[in-house]
Amino acid sequence: MILLEKCPVCSEGGLVKKLDCIDHSTTKENFTIVSCETCGFTFTNPRPKDENLGEYYKSDMYISHTNNTKGLFNWLYQTVRKYAIGSKVNLLRKISEKGNHLDIGCGTGEFLNACKNAGYNTKGIEPSELAREQAIENFNLSVSENTNLNQFQKEQFNSISMWHVLEHVTNLNETIGEFARILDQNGKVIIAVPNHKSWDANHYKEFWAAWDTPIHLWHFSKETIEKLFENHNFKLTKTKPMLFDSFYVALLSEEFKTGKKKFIKGFVIGLISNIIGLVTKRGCSSTIYVFEKKN
Ligand SMILES: [Zn+2]
Repeated sequence: MILLEKCPVCSEGGLVKKLDCIDHSTTKENFTIVSCETCGFTFTNPRPKDENLGEYYKSDMYISHTNNTKGLFNWLYQTVRKYAIGSKVNLLRKISEKGNHLDIGCGTGEFLNACKNAGYNTKGIEPSELAREQAIENFNLSVSENTNLNQFQKEQFNSISMWHVLEHVTNLNETIGEFARILDQNGKVIIAVPNHKSWDANHYKEFWAAWDTPIHLWHFSKETIEKLFENHNFKLTKTKPMLFDSFYVALLSEEFKTGKKKFIKGFVIGLISNIIGLVTKRGCSSTIYVFEKKN
């Protein structure tokens, strides 16, 4: 296990336990989530060594890299995902007109393919062999297995996206430091991550599916992700709630809590979280952040 002694955002050492959370989907092992007393950044600590993390990805429930349409739940998930791809491309179009776009953790490539069709020069990174092969085979995309960003040249890209990926990245500061290097002037970064300040996170506590320990290493809020990117000379220019994620996370959380699929209850909790998230500005279950490189 790896134990961090200092906060990766503010480098202070006062880390207090926030909650214990088991790995609901795979091993049922217990993990601890801590918060920094100084800046509030929250993360899984300790966490498995990098070489052991792969063991925790072997769950049937981890469906974002596959196109398995078994069951109503997965069907709904896949249907919503298709719809969401259109709105993601629209967001990219608004913030960065055509250019070189890098999608890190591109999975089976649906979003990247939509970007390509919209006129972007695209490049993807996907460590999962199964997903990467599908992306290449289905859409003829350029996808790298190598997750190290040092393979790219200085200012090679105009925009980068990471859809629910940054929370999995082990070398957090190095990765964002590399964004600054490989993006051109005014380059944009789109980051989607769960928001542990959301109403549904507080409602489900240790059963909140988006804690997803230990594969979610970092648990962001608007304040902490803004501070993290500011450390690397990026400014936050836009936030957008991911309204569908609230339902998805509530359904999974209900299942973790009760052992049953409770569609109506999950829908109601997701709806309440969205309404409170929008009205109170505490944010919904997941948030999209847009950062711009400062000059
Ligand atoms: Zn801190």
